[in-house]
Amino acid sequence: MVIIKTAREISLMKDACRISANALRLAGEYVKPGATTLEIDAKVREYIEKQGATPSFLGYGGFPASACISVNDVVIHGIPSKEQVLKEGDIVSVDVGAFYNGYHGDNAYTYACGKVSENAEKLMDATRTGLEKGIEAALAGNRVGDIGSAVQKYVEDRGYSVVRDFVGHGVGAKLHEDPSIPNYGTAGRGVRLLPGMTIAIEPMICEGGYEVDVLDDDWTTVTRDGKLAAHYENTIAITPDGPVILTVPG
Ligand code: MG
Repeated sequence: MVIIKTAREISLMKDACRISANALRLAGEYVKPGATTLEIDAKVREYIEKQGATPSFLGYGGFPASACISVNDVVIHGIPSKEQVLKEGDIVSVDVGAFYNGYHGDNAYTYACGKVSENAEKLMDATRTGLEKGIEAALAGNRVGDIGSAVQKYVEDRGYSVVRDFVGHGVGAKLHEDPSIPNYGTAGRGVRLLPGMTIAIEPMICEGGYEVDVLDDDWTTVTRDGKLAAHYENTIAITPDGPVILTVPG
């Protein structure tokens, strides 16, 4: 069931989204050679809890950390670890959510660790712009397929592929609400976008093929061909005046 929020509910949600965005930006400041992904997770958790909020992912479905930190060929759901030391040239996708005043915010960003290859840079740029294209298509009256097809066209035109097994989602009082928001699809198809819907758009884009595998820990999701993947996400609101990004730091 798609939940339509009032302007007041969306304004409450902005606080959770701001905390999420600040936590994500903070994580980025700690992405550097020699840092462990567990250290970054600890900073994220400390910041969120200091705001009186709760990390959305901690314990969600049994997830053991506050942020998903996914390095290089890990697409999503990487588990922070003290064994994982970042090195120059890694690309590091951090996904973090915060729950505050009854609502969740959810966002992700792929950070460069030091200087990364030109190929990595291009993949990150295309994924970030793919997210922007998806957001631009999130107009009231459009359909979910308009978002997916906008993302898909942009990244496939540049030779990249769109993960099929994981998609974006509605977000609000629950971390994952209806509808699903695939990053691929057919324009003009799917659930109609209405003012008051709040959704997380989150393209997961691969340098090679779009097939992924989930490792034995039941979380870590890797590209099957071992090539790089990038992941960017914003929580947005559909409004009569166009899409509004809620996960804005401040
Ligand atoms: Mg999400």
